[in-house]
Amino acid sequence: MGESRRAYVVCPVCGHVFRTTYASTYVTVGRETDLCPKIPGRPSDGARLIRSTVTMCPACSFAAGEAFDDLDLTFDERYGIEERLKEDGLLKVFRKGQPPWLGFHAAEVCGKERSLRSRELGDLCLRASWVCRKERERPFESTFQLRALRHFMRSLQEDDLLGRELSVTTYLVGELNRRLGNHREALNWYVNAGRTTEGDPRAAWLDRLIDRQSKLAREQAA
Ligand SMILES: [Zn+2]
Repeated sequence: MGESRRAYVVCPVCGHVFRTTYASTYVTVGRETDLCPKIPGRPSDGARLIRSTVTMCPACSFAAGEAFDDLDLTFDERYGIEERLKEDGLLKVFRKGQPPWLGFHAAEVCGKERSLRSRELGDLCLRASWVCRKERERPFESTFQLRALRHFMRSLQEDDLLGRELSVTTYLVGELNRRLGNHREALNWYVNAGRTTEGDPRAAWLDRLIDRQSKLAREQAA
């Protein structure tokens, strides 16, 4: 099991003080093909560890992947975040029930106001989909995969990605398409991803993954 530490934090939006758990490290035994870490133990333990990579304020639902101490929000950002959190439809419905993906959703809502890059917004949604899979929340898994896919596609247009980040993001656009049933689309993106790794020996693991998943997508498309 992973190590984690408990700490008191102050919400940078509403000032509420609460205790939270940060996952400092966790042991993984490889990754699934959408890069979801395989964590020993029960799936729900793994889900809990992945969940502890975001912190959510229990009072106002402000959430972020960064430690709250490191955040320096402007007055306008705080105001904008409060408004978005108040108006968000999913938060209105699910705040009380606290489903396992809620922190990631809230972090995405707040991240838009904080002008996070699309790559980071996509990453929050991807991690939400991993938690949903481990917790068997099937419809929400697809919802977050689709949101991750859209952010990653925007990221490829806007974020000036380079090197490993470019290759991995392009591959994930393929893999998320495949998982959502768009097999032909997936094949095109695997080809694009392969072009970005050409000649880079450090990307050999990704080339192998692209080969394997292309084969799978071709079978599924047939
Ligand atoms: Zn708060």
